[in-house]
Amino acid sequence: MYTFVKKILDSESFIPHEEINRLLSLTKNPDKKYIEEILEKSLNKERLDLSETAALLNAENPELVEMIFTAAKSLKEKIYGNRIVLFAPLYIGNECINNCSYCGFRSENKQVIRKTLTDEELTNELFALTSKGHKRLIVVFGEHPVYSPEYIAKTIEKIYSYRNGNGEIRRVNVNAAPQTVEGYKTIRNAGIGTFQIFQETYHLPTYKKYHKAGPKSSYTYRLFGLDRAMIAGIDDVGIGALFGLYDWKFEVMGLMCHTRHLEERFGVGPHTISFPRIEPAVGTPLTEKPPYAVSDYDFKRLVAIIRLSVPYTGLILTAREKVQLRDEVIKLGVSQIDAGSSIGVGSYAQKDQEIVRKSQFILGDTRTLDEVIKELAMEGYIPSFCTACYRAGRTGQHFMEFAIPGFVKEFCTPNALLTFKEYLIDYATNETKLIGEKLIEKELLKIPDSRRETVRKMLVNIEKGERDVRL
Ligand code: SAM
Ligand code: SF4
Repeated sequence: MYTFVKKILDSESFIPHEEINRLLSLTKNPDKKYIEEILEKSLNKERLDLSETAALLNAENPELVEMIFTAAKSLKEKIYGNRIVLFAPLYIGNECINNCSYCGFRSENKQVIRKTLTDEELTNELFALTSKGHKRLIVVFGEHPVYSPEYIAKTIEKIYSYRNGNGEIRRVNVNAAPQTVEGYKTIRNAGIGTFQIFQETYHLPTYKKYHKAGPKSSYTYRLFGLDRAMIAGIDDVGIGALFGLYDWKFEVMGLMCHTRHLEERFGVGPHTISFPRIEPAVGTPLTEKPPYAVSDYDFKRLVAIIRLSVPYTGLILTAREKVQLRDEVIKLGVSQIDAGSSIGVGSYAQKDQEIVRKSQFILGDTRTLDEVIKELAMEGYIPSFCTACYRAGRTGQHFMEFAIPGFVKEFCTPNALLTFKEYLIDYATNETKLIGEKLIEKELLKIPDSRRETVRKMLVNIEKGERDVRL
């Protein structure tokens, strides 16, 4: 009975494997003119269709790849401007009943220390995070009956109610196991931002190979996980693939099919797309040599191609990647990064020796939040902790940025500057403050005349002590 039901469900998948393979083989060696046409379409803010994405993926000639990079950079500047939203991951617990071959938390890993934060430890983590200036979190859970929807909802509520002087968390996103519609409703009621689920690999045989045990062994239950979230009324959902398990080109096509499916079914695509690469994890041999390791060069290609294919979706780059590569990839279209991250359970408050054994994998970028902010500002980016849209009930924020002319200049840039100002006053080192204040002055000049005075006044109010000022 079980096999029968599962078979039917797998056949209902919206990832048409044969079609993806056919498109990837039909579009081999695309000529320059075709690539130019595709890039022009994307720069006109039109979303690409699957065969066009496949052609970009098949552009191997360095000249064509350079054209793709240039177009991605210019699309990013044109639509989103120079803001970068900052967040931190907060690991709540690493108990897990699944056995994903690539993850340090998998059930068979005897080298990892299992831990779930107590109330007191959660408070300590929040103290450490808010003392540094963080305002946006993604909370991460293993998959275990302990982490029920009620447990996740309670954790979110505790986080929102926490105060530390001017410090508070204003948006909590979640990366946890797929839930039932009822479960999502419970979590939604706690005021969740985005619910993220990464499919890991969209390639069914590969998925089955690396997810042999536990609830995660069902490809389809996971694939439709965010459909259930949307049915339950969670408007912002995040998709992702774990690069290194299967051919990166297939995975990008999978992400595009997933986006298309959500758009067709719910009228709105994912809020964000993530593209983690497999990182080394303690006691996890597969991570020493991932089966389809993606080179830095191909990683940049895939980010640029995703940016061009879905111009209106937020892209998340994590601190799994090393500093220099992060700097390059941000330019290609990333809208959010984590900074000052620590991914052990309890590791913001406690820097003990064993922390690596409570971690899921090992980070590539270990700079502090202030270092990241200083370097972003020096490069001309506005570091942003903005949560205005979500709190004003404006979900589908990326779509508005993309679709409403002037939205970025009228709302996003001013709000980014306001949250940046708060950071500079409350948390920045003197050096960052100097660099940041100069940047704010420069950026103010770019705000439309009609808005500039209002924003100036708001900045003065922040100097006088007002907080959480937003448009
Ligand atoms: N347990 C939940 C799940 O699997 O969906 C959520 C938490 S899981 C820790 C979050 C994500 O971490 C996974 O979806 C996977 O993509 C990623 N991940 C797992 N192992 C990794 C590794 N070795 N390197 C990089 N990312 C990894
Ligand atoms: Fe558990 Fe998630 Fe890690 Fe898989 S990826 S072992 S489900 S924590």
